[in-house]
Amino acid sequence: MRHTRSQTKVIATIGPASSSKEVLEKLFHEGVDVCRLNFSHGTHADHLQVIKNILELNKELKTNVALLADLQGPKIRIGDVENNKVDLVEGAEVNFVTEKCIGTAERLYISYQEFPGDVKVGDFILVDDGKLKLQVISTNRKDKVTAKVIYGGVLSSKKGVNLPNTKVSIPSLTEKDIEDAIFALDNGVDWIALSFVRSAGDLIALKDLIKQRKKNASIIAKIEKPEALSDIDNIIDMSNGIMVARGDLGVEVPFDQVPLIQKDLVARCIAKAKPVIIATQMLESMIISFRPTRAEANDVANAVFDGADALMLSAETSAGKYPVESVNAMQRIIDWSEKGFHNNRETLPVPNTRTFLPDSICLNSCRLASQTAAKAIVTFTNSGYTAYKISSFRPQASIFAFSRNPALLRKLSLVWGVRAFYFENHENIDDAITHSIEVLKDESYIKDNDVVVHSGSTPFEERGQTNMIKVSYV
Ligand code: PEP
Repeated sequence: MRHTRSQTKVIATIGPASSSKEVLEKLFHEGVDVCRLNFSHGTHADHLQVIKNILELNKELKTNVALLADLQGPKIRIGDVENNKVDLVEGAEVNFVTEKCIGTAERLYISYQEFPGDVKVGDFILVDDGKLKLQVISTNRKDKVTAKVIYGGVLSSKKGVNLPNTKVSIPSLTEKDIEDAIFALDNGVDWIALSFVRSAGDLIALKDLIKQRKKNASIIAKIEKPEALSDIDNIIDMSNGIMVARGDLGVEVPFDQVPLIQKDLVARCIAKAKPVIIATQMLESMIISFRPTRAEANDVANAVFDGADALMLSAETSAGKYPVESVNAMQRIIDWSEKGFHNNRETLPVPNTRTFLPDSICLNSCRLASQTAAKAIVTFTNSGYTAYKISSFRPQASIFAFSRNPALLRKLSLVWGVRAFYFENHENIDDAITHSIEVLKDESYIKDNDVVVHSGSTPFEERGQTNMIKVSYV
């Protein structure tokens, strides 16, 4: 089975609702391209079983569904509360303490030890996805912060806390993240996402860890803090892709700003040929309903129109009642949206840079494909560079990447429009081209008389930079 439908890719978060091989197989059939393992939940044993199931299905179904490990990062939480339910009343004062305790309406444990030292009077404390809002009125700078409830409500145990104004001093890669990252890397994940990135420097520790373990997983920086927006170009340059993590982002920055931030981040990533994921609440109502709301269908379609590489499902597939229907709905909205809309982009190659010639080949492959109404653009790639680059021009022709590098095949499943194939060594570029045409014909991606554009490098055995284009009829 190989689904041929959309250019925009689908990511499903795997959890209790979808971790069995039976459900995973259904998700594969519905068109999922990437499975996300959320390390905020589940044990390593749970994740290992999911990885095993996905790798087995990839073999059985001849697919390249990728694995994305999402590290929890410095998520701040309150502790357990009395009877799992306390009522925070508007105008009341609440103490946030760094010593563990069972929470009450007057005193709540907060998992952030440096909070009293880092916070300022007047800062806001948002709890439970921003549903409750408090404002700091004092801190003893040691172990207690007193805040006044502005918008109250009922609070249950272990809810998340967002501090939009506080300069949080916790490192981006926590002890738990290091353990989870080592586990994920050792079990062969393709992508690894770092949460609450604030600056490009936050990515260094994870990059070093990947190097130390001699792995080649690529890094996704999750954009969910206002500070990240101030350093966004460096973060995009330092990472291999980004996620617009709208859940926390929409609490940390005013929610009315999120739509334009989404558009801006997608455009910046496309211009730098880095994949960009749109995440959270895309089909939220499908956690309990078999069909999405009209507004959700529009949200998915608009992310396609923005040009995102991949759209992500969270609780819809990990814990919802309708995981298979959610992927089916997302895929259908993408399919229909792509039919009626095209999103060509062109970023001109920059003279006097190391990649000037390959960038020019990639751009002109797309221009030629457009002029000749080619069905396919085929690239031979070892690093994946030309596949990312060609994808960034969002051509109408399908993009096929042939690689001798098996680690690349699953990884490219996250990238807009790209489908990857393994190929054995060939003597020369002509043999490789003939082989690629046979494979694509066998899989019914192309047929006789279709125009195909190939790009690659000659002499073939030197594996140098991309330096040739061929346009031919099948
Ligand atoms: C988000 O905040 O949108 C997000 C994807 O992160 P998480 O699900 O890990 O909270």
